[in-house]
Amino acid sequence: MQHVAKSLMQNYDDKQQQTLVIIKPDGVQRNLIGEVIKRYEQCGLKLVALKMLIPTPELALAHYSTDPKWALKTGTKAIEAAKSRGEDLGTDNPIIYAKKVRSTLKSFLSSGPVVAMVWQGMGAVAVVRKITGGTEPLSSAPGTIRGDYTIDSYTAANADNRSVRNIIHSSGSIEEAKIEIKLWFKPEEILGYRIISEEIIYDVNLDGILE
Ligand code: GDP
Repeated sequence: MQHVAKSLMQNYDDKQQQTLVIIKPDGVQRNLIGEVIKRYEQCGLKLVALKMLIPTPELALAHYSTDPKWALKTGTKAIEAAKSRGEDLGTDNPIIYAKKVRSTLKSFLSSGPVVAMVWQGMGAVAVVRKITGGTEPLSSAPGTIRGDYTIDSYTAANADNRSVRNIIHSSGSIEEAKIEIKLWFKPEEILGYRIISEEIIYDVNLDGILE
């Protein structure tokens, strides 16, 4: 009995999970704000914070410096992808390469308006990553936002010394989400409210449907 109560409680906590999404300047310029919001909204996630802003270069840099593991993760992913294409990135050190990527991201993210949002719901971090799709548009799956609306490649972006244009940033883990949300939103900008659809998505008791 105690075990059931504990697992129900975990399930409840999971419904409160929050993640940060940023529609990057390319998404705004391509008139995809509505489409992106629709994708997350229609799966049952709840929008609890939203703002449009032009990030300063300092905010853009801080955003990609919140997770100490980010450089190692992103650099390793990039170097492995380059090796599989038979390309030389000029270094085998993931941290050094990630620093280069971070400097292109600083100018990309601060180049124009972005839309920052907090989405909440069951497993929000992983659900948003799934709907968003893989980092490189060339290989992100059809049906995902990046797979359906972007066409860029690491090779092209690296040759031009710019960030891959992939429309969205979304938090990579629950811990990352907590830090990133604090960076972009004040606590009072995040709304706590009920939405009717949550009852059909989560509630055990469905006795309110029939007249
Ligand atoms: P994400 O979580 O899927 O956005 O991926 P990362 O956190 O690893 O990288 C952050 C962003 O940096 C990506 O969304 C891309 O815009 C850009 N980026 C990552 N890796 C590379 C790379 O190898 N080359 C270039 N040009 N851009 C990259």
